[in-house]
Amino acid sequence: MTIPTSTKFAIIGAGIHGLSTALHLAEMLKAAGKGSGADILVIDKTGVAAGASGIACGVVRNNYFQPAMRELMAHSVEIWESDPKAYSYHPVGYMQISPECMREDVASIYEQQKAINYESVFIDGAEASAKYMKGLFDDWQAQGITSVLHEKRGGYANNVASMKGLAAKAEAQGVRVLSGVELMDFEFGSNSGAITALNTNQGRIACETVVVGVGPWVNKIWNLLELPKAIDVKQNGTLHKDVPMWKFWCLEEGTLGVDPLMHRTNDGNFPPVLHVDTDAPLYSQRDGKLITDKIWGIYYKPDFNFGGIQGGASPYKVEQDPDRVAVDPYGPESPEFVVGEDFIDMWCSALAHCQKRFEGKMPLYRREENSGGLGCFTPDNFPVFDMFRENVYVIADSNHGYKMLGVGKLVAQELMGEKSALLEPFRFGRFAKGDLHPTSHSPFPWS
Ligand SMILES: Cc1cc2nc3c(=O)[nH]c(=O)nc-3n(C[C@H](O)[C@H](O)[C@H](O)COP(=O)(O)OP(=O)(O)OC[C@H]3O[C@@H](n4cnc5c(N)ncnc54)[C@H](O)[C@@H]3O)c2cc1C
Repeated sequence: MTIPTSTKFAIIGAGIHGLSTALHLAEMLKAAGKGSGADILVIDKTGVAAGASGIACGVVRNNYFQPAMRELMAHSVEIWESDPKAYSYHPVGYMQISPECMREDVASIYEQQKAINYESVFIDGAEASAKYMKGLFDDWQAQGITSVLHEKRGGYANNVASMKGLAAKAEAQGVRVLSGVELMDFEFGSNSGAITALNTNQGRIACETVVVGVGPWVNKIWNLLELPKAIDVKQNGTLHKDVPMWKFWCLEEGTLGVDPLMHRTNDGNFPPVLHVDTDAPLYSQRDGKLITDKIWGIYYKPDFNFGGIQGGASPYKVEQDPDRVAVDPYGPESPEFVVGEDFIDMWCSALAHCQKRFEGKMPLYRREENSGGLGCFTPDNFPVFDMFRENVYVIADSNHGYKMLGVGKLVAQELMGEKSALLEPFRFGRFAKGDLHPTSHSPFPWS
């Protein structure tokens, strides 16, 4: 393969962030008369959608307890809505269905969604919530629910199809997207900390600016950039020293192999994506045993792309040193980080806990297809979008990111010299300053 020996902008990773940055940067360069897509090279060690973006459940929601996340998501939803066909986007809406310990958090999300004109409905109280849910699904039977937030925007998109659509849009702007080109290490400038070239498995590429959008591989690239493995984090006035910069969680998702059409609303429409958290005891559909009496959560949607009801449950933390975690082979190919019987029992039983139509359906779970995959998280579990070493923009979304299609547009704006207020709360400096994002009562590390 012959690869270019130089480029103005080198983007590492053809996932949602690398491709979105490439597309928007190409458009902005052209509009400003400062260049075009031909100034941008995206390299990927495997190809488009080979990482987390290609296996994501694809849920697009605004439901975040953190104001900065909500504003950023509202911006991203606009981009999804701008070209639903190319992005394979299904605007079916999203519901957060919650127990008492989350009610106040979710009520405040609703209030703040109103403030940013993000359309949603909030149902308060156990009786009203049950009535609202039964109005949508007559077999609704989840216990322990005292509030419902129904976001009218958002929904989900088809993972690989959306990445291909995004890549095609970037290529139409003249961006080159090269598969099978792996960054092996960086070349540092002699008089500065800046990066002057990428050394790849296919040769050297000199560059002026680097964008890193490598999803779960960020720990490895961070090490190559010689950035700190451990940092100081100030939280509620207390300084925590030597906190590991990266940690891995394993996302647990799967598909129930039923006809997706069996999950429609009472009036025959496609339902919103449902996210249910509850502290009601969960019993196994397999043998009646108690699975948990602690707060648990699941999400699910009918999905023709996955061929059934697809969704997931809370992830689990990978307790290994991040440098020793085997990110490759990634996703379904991983011998280690795919879901097992415990997930299948929990998730299928939880579906049946929520809706009668899923009772007795566990045998139809798609065991023949591996699912799940790693995500790499920051110390506070929220993204870092920042410039390092003078010319390296790192987009490290802390596994929030498939829905964040709009981040690439904001990063492109910053590369053009205009600071983005929406990205400001996600700078690396927040850890030392103690400007962390508030935490919610959700059982998920990303809510
Ligand atoms: C199972 C699962 C389900 C998820 N579901 C959702 C969801 O429903 N909604 C949501 O918003 N988010 C979801 N996420 C999170 C989301 O998928 C990620 O946050 C997001 O896709 C990360 O995008 P990215 O562009 O940073 O990285 P990726 O999509 O992972 O792309 C990184 C690319 O970098 C390439 N690469 C890595 N190292 C190198 C190198 N050295 N040289 C060249 N190329 C390299 C890889 O091959 C890969 O293609 C999910 C994640 C997982 C694992």
